[in-house]
Amino acid sequence: MSADFIHEELQAIHREGLHRRLRLFDEAGTPRTRVDGREVVQFASNSYLGLARHPDVVRAAQEAARTYGTGAGGSRLLGGGLRLHRELEEELARFKGTEDAVLFGSGYQANLGILGALAGPDDLVVSDELNHASIIDACRLSRARVEIYRHGDAAHADALLAEHRRTARRAFLVTDGVFSMDGDLAPLRELQASAQGRDALFVVDDAHGTGVLGTRGRGTAEHLGLGRAPEIQMGTLSKALAGEGGFVAGTSDLCDLLRNRARSFVFSTAPSPANVAAARAALRLVDAEPHRRKQLHENQKRLRSALRESEWSVPEGETPILPVSVGNGAQALAFSQTMEDLGVYVPAIRPPTVPVGSARLRATVMATHTAADVDLAIHAFQRAREPLEVAR
Ligand SMILES: *Cc1c(COP(=O)(O)O)cnc(C)c1O
Repeated sequence: MSADFIHEELQAIHREGLHRRLRLFDEAGTPRTRVDGREVVQFASNSYLGLARHPDVVRAAQEAARTYGTGAGGSRLLGGGLRLHRELEEELARFKGTEDAVLFGSGYQANLGILGALAGPDDLVVSDELNHASIIDACRLSRARVEIYRHGDAAHADALLAEHRRTARRAFLVTDGVFSMDGDLAPLRELQASAQGRDALFVVDDAHGTGVLGTRGRGTAEHLGLGRAPEIQMGTLSKALAGEGGFVAGTSDLCDLLRNRARSFVFSTAPSPANVAAARAALRLVDAEPHRRKQLHENQKRLRSALRESEWSVPEGETPILPVSVGNGAQALAFSQTMEDLGVYVPAIRPPTVPVGSARLRATVMATHTAADVDLAIHAFQRAREPLEVAR
């Protein structure tokens, strides 16, 4: 068979103006870096607390590599499971206030593992329309019946449960805590009440809330004052926790079942010792250096209120993720490039990462941005807009 279709598919992506190319950064996790050789202040990292560059975290990773070697060398069940992995699981459980936690190679794998292991063709998954791609893929993998509710609409979720729950063996209500491309919060209280009332398990993906939200950084549930923890809490080590890997926190039985049934756990190599050690150090710093969370919040507020005052299309909010609408995909890309020419990197987000017609710039702030860094971004937004206003 001819492989010409590969080239043709690529051409189609180019024609739609949706081709993506890799940008090369000289440093990660720092406000200042170089992208393709040019110095910028970047607003694109998920290392919200700046911990990926914290000396304690870097040292922990170095020491773990020296002590245990670089790769785990096997899956957790077959020779790759170190005491270190178990210690992090216990610490994550304590952090989230659950009986146990289980580590995965990534947050993506954690989500595949949850629904892949727990849901089947006789079951129902009710899912927010803007849930992360890994949840969408998990839904498909589970072969469960999937009902999608309008973004953030707990009443719609409830109506779907009311309509379809009876014909399903098990039901799951699943949502991001913080939505990754919009930075808004799910109405966890209302969703939890609905799950409870309709006999569904409540699953929350708190990739962006963990370490960031709540007085103690426990996440979206703490921030929203949920009285009871969701039955299944997923998180990642790769954002505020400065490493790589994902986890699920819940009851001992849940974690034991995932270790036995989640294929993305069973058939994948354990996270590397350096990553695990980095996450353990980061987890300690979430508690030991609460001023980082405060600084992060001040930075996001500074950027958000300045942009809103200048009538940028930025929603109100309280997370470090700021979506800024600047037109269609091509316009967003051009705007991002103009910003970059001014020394500020804010990536354009286009379909299929966001729904068609909702391209945007997505700025993420870090605790380690200075006020001057944030002001640079504000000025770059204004200056990049000037040519548009002249053209009008
Ligand atoms: C980033 C992200 C994931 C995936 O986590 P990784 O550790 O990067 O694989 C899952 N869910 C949400 C909401 C995310 O933002």
